[in-house]
Amino acid sequence: TNSPVTVLGLGSMGSALAAALLKAGHPTTVWNRSPGKADDLVAAGAVRAASVTDAIKASPLVIACLLDYPVVEELLAPAADALTGRDLVNLTNGTPDQARALAARLDARGAWYVDGGIMAIPRLIGTPEGFILYSGSRETFDRARPALDRLGGAHYLGGDAGLASLYDLALLSAMYGMASGVRHAITMVGEERAAEFGSAYLAPWLQAMAAPIGQGAAEDEEASPLGMQAVGMSNIVEASRGEGVPNVLLSHLLIAMQDIVDAGHDDLLPPLIDQIRKAG
Ligand code: NDP
Repeated sequence: TNSPVTVLGLGSMGSALAAALLKAGHPTTVWNRSPGKADDLVAAGAVRAASVTDAIKASPLVIACLLDYPVVEELLAPAADALTGRDLVNLTNGTPDQARALAARLDARGAWYVDGGIMAIPRLIGTPEGFILYSGSRETFDRARPALDRLGGAHYLGGDAGLASLYDLALLSAMYGMASGVRHAITMVGEERAAEFGSAYLAPWLQAMAAPIGQGAAEDEEASPLGMQAVGMSNIVEASRGEGVPNVLLSHLLIAMQDIVDAGHDDLLPPLIDQIRKAG
């Protein structure tokens, strides 16, 4: 007795979501602008809807996964009446304000809205490694939960529809920051050492350093005082310069750290947040 679900958007991510729902036995209706992307899913048992309105009418729960909010708004506008009384879970990447605006518009139409941020790549959908953040209508989240659980770990953040986007974008920012540090590191050691450096040292090192994040690591902070870290950073900057690697990322961090140390702080986070806000 799995409840029917509609998926709007069959790009790399939408297709993975629909496939996971089908695999779990949910009657699944799909729609995509380029209809050919539904072929494999239809062969696996999905129903192809001829229009967005037909797709919405097919299920009490509609999941949207499209390129961006303008596309979501454009597709839903002519189909808005069909959404009345249904649950919409929008997993399209966007800003908190875009999510709140859509939530308000749908609320005015009598539709129920949950916004989501997918913290996974398509191949991790439906596995314990992927998770999805949700915010907005608690009723919708609870009703949709059995289906959402098929997609990966489901985390409800609260009634403000913008929260899932906020956390999603913050996590992506951390990921891109890390990626930029990784690029810098690989450029420092050079292409010929990159493969071994990456698998033997970089990946285990990042894992070990990420493990204590958020666990109130006061002990670690004591063991690695800020003044010592600022010196280490200035050495990175100097060595990078020596290797001809520009310090676009690290020099900013270094300046912030040195100022904080000079001001006599021993707790990094509050003055760092203050500095970053002032720089913006
Ligand atoms: P794709 O580029 O693979 O798919 C984009 C989807 O949007 C397609 O279904 C495309 O239709 C549709 N689309 C684009 N423009 C229009 C339009 N004007 N009218 C109608 N449909 C349109 O992207 P993904 O599937 O990878 O991503 C979808 C969402 O999932 C994004 O918001 C992304 O940020 C998010 N996401 C993706 C992840 C990933 O690793 N792939 C990870 C986490 C989140 P058509 O097939 O006809 O072009």
